[in-house]
Amino acid sequence: MAVAAAEGAQRSGMVVVLPGLYVGGAESCSSPEALAAAGVVAVLTVDAEEAPLPAAVPGVRALHVRARDEPGADLLSRFDDCAAFIGAARATGGAALVRCAAGVSRSAAVVTAYLMKSEGLRREEAYAAVKAAKPDVEVNPGFEGQLKLYEAMDCAVDVSSALYKRYRLQMVTQRYPELQDLPQEVFAVDPTSICQTPNTEVLYRCRKCRRSLFHSSSILSHMEGSGPTAFAHKRITDSTQLHDHGRDKCTSYFIEPVQWMEPVLLGVMEGQLLCPKCTSKLGSFSWRGEQCSCGCWVTPAFQIHKSRVDEVKTLPVCDFQAAKT
Ligand SMILES: [Zn+2]
Ligand SMILES: [Zn+2]
Repeated sequence: MAVAAAEGAQRSGMVVVLPGLYVGGAESCSSPEALAAAGVVAVLTVDAEEAPLPAAVPGVRALHVRARDEPGADLLSRFDDCAAFIGAARATGGAALVRCAAGVSRSAAVVTAYLMKSEGLRREEAYAAVKAAKPDVEVNPGFEGQLKLYEAMDCAVDVSSALYKRYRLQMVTQRYPELQDLPQEVFAVDPTSICQTPNTEVLYRCRKCRRSLFHSSSILSHMEGSGPTAFAHKRITDSTQLHDHGRDKCTSYFIEPVQWMEPVLLGVMEGQLLCPKCTSKLGSFSWRGEQCSCGCWVTPAFQIHKSRVDEVKTLPVCDFQAAKT
């Protein structure tokens, strides 16, 4: 029975990776009989457009993840959702099918991420397992970089981590020249904003006028070389080479963009970063990247000279509030 189901599935372009987990191309959903025989209760489609499921498969849950097969397409942000969707189907004793147009790159990347997260496999092991099931699998270099980052994040996307912030900036940078405006989520909240919740992080202020500029959580430590990147033409650096450089070697902080920078960042490739209050020069930015004094290239770069800012240890929350009254 199981053999017959697998054979039927194979004929329709569905390939079994694990019991209850299939991968395939666009044609893999063309046969309702094959889906039913394989016990498919959930179909995850990773494609630029949503492709409808055959009408004759009632009760099948569907999830669409919008992505082109391009190195700059973001799958990383959706790996956790995808894994939850697949896991929920398998938990009921049913099977999940992950499909994209060709069943080669996008679906394979999602299935690899799922195996890493749910089976605890290392990235290479997970990818090898998918490739063993479907030898024509070949994830694009951008997705390969995203899988490396996912592994570096212990298979749980943490949007507040420096790794994720840097990744998100690199994705924005790739599309930058065509962007009409920058997505708000790339900006850290302005520390002077009244919406800012009091926190105990180190605060950096303009040395000249003491205007609060950014918190320590906005500092993005450099990576060896260009770091894990979605740029196809650049070398993908293994996440194990991530490390902090000696702080004293670096004469600048490389940080994520902060809201007060927004007016100067758009429409130009590079420029100066001035204090929003006293306009003294704090540093510079470049979407193409800048080299730190330690020799590392950081792309994109939002660079604040250490000599232009003062570190302030913010007060604990209760004292902060007492100080305000
Ligand atoms: Zn440096
Ligand atoms: Zn200032």
